[in-house]
Amino acid sequence: MRDIIKEKMFSFGKNKALLEICSSIVERLEDGIVAIDSHHNITLFNEGAQRIFGYTPGEVIGQHLNILLPERFHLQHDLMIEEFGAADKNIRTIGQRTRQIFGVRKDNSEFAASISILKTGTNPLKQGYAAVVRDISENKRTEDELLRLAATDPLTGAFNRREFTSLADQESQRANRYNHPLSIMMLDLDHFKRLNDTYGHAAGDKALQRFTTLCCNALRTVDIFGRWGGEEFVTLLPETDVEGAVIIAERLRKLVSQSILVYNDQKISLTASIGIAQYRSGEMTVEGPLSRADSAVYDAKKAGRNRISVYRND
Ligand code: GH3
Ligand code: MG
Ligand code: MG
Repeated sequence: MRDIIKEKMFSFGKNKALLEICSSIVERLEDGIVAIDSHHNITLFNEGAQRIFGYTPGEVIGQHLNILLPERFHLQHDLMIEEFGAADKNIRTIGQRTRQIFGVRKDNSEFAASISILKTGTNPLKQGYAAVVRDISENKRTEDELLRLAATDPLTGAFNRREFTSLADQESQRANRYNHPLSIMMLDLDHFKRLNDTYGHAAGDKALQRFTTLCCNALRTVDIFGRWGGEEFVTLLPETDVEGAVIIAERLRKLVSQSILVYNDQKISLTASIGIAQYRSGEMTVEGPLSRADSAVYDAKKAGRNRISVYRND
């Protein structure tokens, strides 16, 4: 560590006090500082880096930088450093914390990190680098959680209307491009107002959660399940025509009607009416297919509920 700081001594006017300050900043900084030589072997590993990576300096000094990176990023990372090294020598830093990478700790666990790299030394043949590393896994978790909350309905965890619409629109573009069939189901719980009135709103909430779990477990991983609002749910079925959709819908209908929700010692049964519509060629938004699925739900209700109805494109 001292070697690197010595290089800077000239510009500090050999000011020992300043050198002490810099040295203690490097050593005690909360962020990790990792320096490497021109062979990418580690030459400096401060306290922050020890905390972040779980290694002592003795375990990593002299080792290749790759020890701190997941294997799948080794090549990419080497290239990134080479590219940086070859860039204009006036460019002393890159990243400024905008670059996100993954690090690997001594216990082999991975974490998200932000790094800023700077070149050390002036001899291009002996180019070394120092990186300031910050563990951002906590920020990343918070960010992921915020994204999840923005995309899902808080009661059931299903995609909310906005997210469902956005995913459905992406899927419809793909279906059009590859000329694949795409179907949509609207699922409306039967007599749900009565269920609330009889067992209470909290029981109704549990029923909505149970319904979501049953559907999500029974659907394929490619299917997209969302809560459209209230007791109305939607499912997008990629690469599925109406015949295929009927099979899936029937599986869900049966599963839901056979399941019993026990709430406060009361047995509550649940049924749903399901309307199915297939996207028409060139249809890129969810409105048209969904309104046809909705009209099919209406038919299913009229025909007695707990059944499936298909909107037939003529
Ligand atoms: P139908 O068979 O014709 O669909 O009758 P329904 O009673 O299910 O339909 P209606 O539209 O008359 O009532 C829907 C009910 O769903 C009314 C509303 O209070 C209830 N509901 C909507 N959102 C929630 C919710 O988040 N929790 C609970 N517990 N109930 C909800
Ligand atoms: Mg309804
Ligand atoms: Mg209903």
